[in-house]
Amino acid sequence: MRGVYEEFKKRAEKKLQSGPDAGAMLFREVAHLGLAAFEPGAKVVWTTAYCFPMVLYWPFNVVPFDFEYAAMQLTGQRKAGEALSACNRQGYAVDTCTAHRVALGAEKLGFYPRADLLVSTTHFCDGKSKCNEIFKEKFRVPFHLIDVPIERDESALIYVEGQVREVFASLCKLAGRTVDESALVEYIRNHNRAMAILEEVQGLRKEQPSPYLPGNKGYTMGMLGGMLLGRPELVAIYEQFLKELRDAPRERGPDGGERFRLLWLLANPSYPTNIFDTFREYGARIVAEEFTYEFMHPLSENRPLRSITEWILDSRFIRPVEERIQTILKWVEEFHIDGVVSFTHFPCRQGNGALSLIRERLNERGVVFMDLEGDLCDPKTFSPERVRMAIENYMEMMSRL
Ligand code: SF4
Repeated sequence: MRGVYEEFKKRAEKKLQSGPDAGAMLFREVAHLGLAAFEPGAKVVWTTAYCFPMVLYWPFNVVPFDFEYAAMQLTGQRKAGEALSACNRQGYAVDTCTAHRVALGAEKLGFYPRADLLVSTTHFCDGKSKCNEIFKEKFRVPFHLIDVPIERDESALIYVEGQVREVFASLCKLAGRTVDESALVEYIRNHNRAMAILEEVQGLRKEQPSPYLPGNKGYTMGMLGGMLLGRPELVAIYEQFLKELRDAPRERGPDGGERFRLLWLLANPSYPTNIFDTFREYGARIVAEEFTYEFMHPLSENRPLRSITEWILDSRFIRPVEERIQTILKWVEEFHIDGVVSFTHFPCRQGNGALSLIRERLNERGVVFMDLEGDLCDPKTFSPERVRMAIENYMEMMSRL
């Protein structure tokens, strides 16, 4: 894993020699964070950035480490096969999420840093909490599992806030500090500044035509950026991203101009594929991603821990499916969407369970739903021919509408 971060850093620094670049700046910061976890004496907290706001960690002298993101980063550097084999040798079920299987194998192979504390939540998926239990046994360290109910009433807020407070107290103890939530204010300000810039980003992307972005850059900036929310560096990275969007081509561009506007649901394969090149050939631009909005929740300087609780309970992946559908329909309207693409990660039951309902409602509106099946972390299951054919079929359907 250390080698992966060193590679990120080397590539980012090379790219930055020719001028500022938001993607390279982001990868350089992610590399710094990853490498810090391997420093002697580092206090490392294993956590999940998309389930738990990262602002909670920055006041303390700890390094947050996301074992799922790390699994995807390993996959991107062609290390998934080795880690999956190591996981299989331990006898874990092969039909569970590959992000977890890669993480279990990577830990066994000694790729990951040691954990001093584990923090996770029950929402999104049970695999995450079970992996944490396994890692807890391995490291013999405290594990906070925040139980997140489906309801979002006052009693749910009180229940979850109590658990968030326990995590906060645990972090204060680990860092040898008194329990005082005002320590979070500076980082909440940075978080909210990043949110304000993301709002501007979304405003630009709503315009027709939208600024051209290569590949699925919007997803990368939102998802990977989530690991750094609350850091001042992310504010600078997002400012640069906004500038790049303002300068990006609209009328023409490498895709020959915008022909179709896409909304991206769920995840993104962590290894190189032909997906985005094929979309580009058809002038299909991804103008919004569901996951970016998962992070887009401002926090309160006056009630830091309560607002962190609200952030968790507002996740569209735990709320009743109708809320997720209504939000998707709202984005379809606001972003003038022609097609909704779900990268349907085979083992993700949480993400996939609602897809037929989403498809139905989109069909009623005349919006094409694309179900691109694949696996986030196992390139062996990916067929470029099959995916190309599927995209061609979808593009054909959209052309006819
Ligand atoms: S992809 Fe789905 S199953 Fe895998 S870690 Fe994410 S939420 Fe869990």
